[in-house]
Order: sequence, then C-alpha cells, then structure tokens
Amino acid sequence: MAGKVWFVGAGPGDPDLITVKGRNLLAAAGAILYAGSLVDQAATRFAPAGCTIRDSKDMTLPEMTDWLLEQAARHATVVRLQTGDPGLYGALIEMTRPLTAAGIDWAVVPGVSSALAAAAAAGETLTLPEVTQTVILTRVAGRTPMPPGEDLEALAAHRTTLCIFLSITLLHRVQDALRAAGWAEDAPILVVQKASWPGAEKIVRGTLADIKRKCQTERIAAQAMIIASPTLGAADWPDLARSKLYDPSFSHRFRKASEAKP
Ligand code: SAH
Repeated sequence: MAGKVWFVGAGPGDPDLITVKGRNLLAAAGAILYAGSLVDQAATRFAPAGCTIRDSKDMTLPEMTDWLLEQAARHATVVRLQTGDPGLYGALIEMTRPLTAAGIDWAVVPGVSSALAAAAAAGETLTLPEVTQTVILTRVAGRTPMPPGEDLEALAAHRTTLCIFLSITLLHRVQDALRAAGWAEDAPILVVQKASWPGAEKIVRGTLADIKRKCQTERIAAQAMIIASPTLGAADWPDLARSKLYDPSFSHRFRKASEAKP
C-alpha cells in the first residue's frame, strides 16, 4: 500500500516553533524532503534513525515530486518540510497535483509563518484598534510577476499592515511604491532577518527614508521580512486607543458590559 505525503510547515527557523503534529510526523517519517538550510535543524533533530533525509535545494519541482512519489511507494509516512507555512509562497499546488494524479494521498500541516515570527521578534502587533484591522501578505514582482491590481503601490494605498516577503533585494521598489501611495518619509518600517533563528536573528527598525541604508549597513540581503505598518512602535506611543475587547463598556461572549462607565 502506498504511503501518505505530508506537507509540513516547519515554522520560521527555530526548531521549537514547529507544531507538535509536525514534529510527530517527522518522528514517524520514513523519508523527509526539506527545503534548504532554513529548516535543516528540525529535519535532523526530530527524524528517526534510518530515515532518508534529502535537501531539495538543488532539485527542480519535477525532481521533487518524482522523489516524493518514489518514497511514498516505500514508506507509510513521507514528509515534505517547508519553511513557515506551506500555503505561502511554497509551490504547494505544483507539488500536490502530480501526487493526486498518481493516486497518492496527501495533507498539509500548517506552520508559523515568518511574517508572524518577525512581528513577534520585534514585539510588534500587526493589528491595532482604530489604527488598522487588516494585514496584507504580499511581495514585489521579481521573476514572478504580480497579477493585475496587486502591485504594492495599489495595496499600500489601503494604509494597512503590509508583510512583504521575498523582496529584501528589491527594497528600493518597496520604498518607491510606498512613496507613490503617499506614505510619509518618517513612516516606520521594520526588517527582521532570520526571525526566530537562535543566535542569528537581526532586527532593523527604520523609516521609509532610511530603511534601505540601515539594511545595507547591517548587510541584510536575504531571508528577511519587511513589515510596513501604522502600528509599528505602538508600545511607546504616549496615547493608545484602548482595545474595544477589553473596554469595560463593551460586551462580548464571555463578559457582560459593566454598568459603570470609567
Ligand atoms: N512559507 C514561508 C515563506 C517562504 S518564501 C513562510 O510562511 O514564512 C521565503 C521568504 O520568506 C523569504 O524571502 C523571507 O521574506 C521570508 N522568510 C522566511 N523565513 C524567514 C525568517 N526566519 N525571517 C525572516 N523572513 C523569513
């Protein structure tokens, strides 16, 4: 009987940030195909003795699906380990379609995305009452073009939180887009490289005007998340609109509003 292929989110880099389900699957895996240097620690730390472990760094997509098919013929549990969450910039569907076509069962285990790990590293919130209640996960066009209506300038016009993947080498284009959308030169921008990696994480705080220079000084040219958001720095604001959820005059499922207004 053919095995099952699990697409497991490894989280952003710290091996402790994989889910318990993901870790249990690694511990039961007969074969693991992991995505480059970002997640090798989890793959090697949690895999059982005798497990076939392979880095997909130098493989093409068809080579990867062939390998997964081959391993599924031999093992009950095969894991494709991906950085962050498999549903974000992970070529998930390109890999699952050939499995489905070959009659191989597969499933996805979500992971902590680097967008969330970057915010956590910096102690920032991505949403804030009366500031922004929306997060856009996006990138700028590289070799992959952006579909119509999704260029960063158009998205930035909403003034929401923007988590920008795969774009650190194109930071000048991020700056151009935010300027064209009317963001101020002193708008705060956060860049986190290797978020959650023990001993390797770098946090750079800057503004639209100086973030590129600061990243150059810190030599950040890969594996970095760019966050542009009107919420950044809120921990130090003198005046913060109180969250409606904790406001005594606001009822919700678990608590009735108190009569007395503060
Ligand atoms: N599926 C992944 C994203 C893969 S695309 C996720 O959910 O996080 C690769 C991009 O993710 C990188 O270019 C970078 O922008 C971001 N990234 C991945 N790991 C990161 C980390 N530990 N710190 C900061 N950015 C990271």
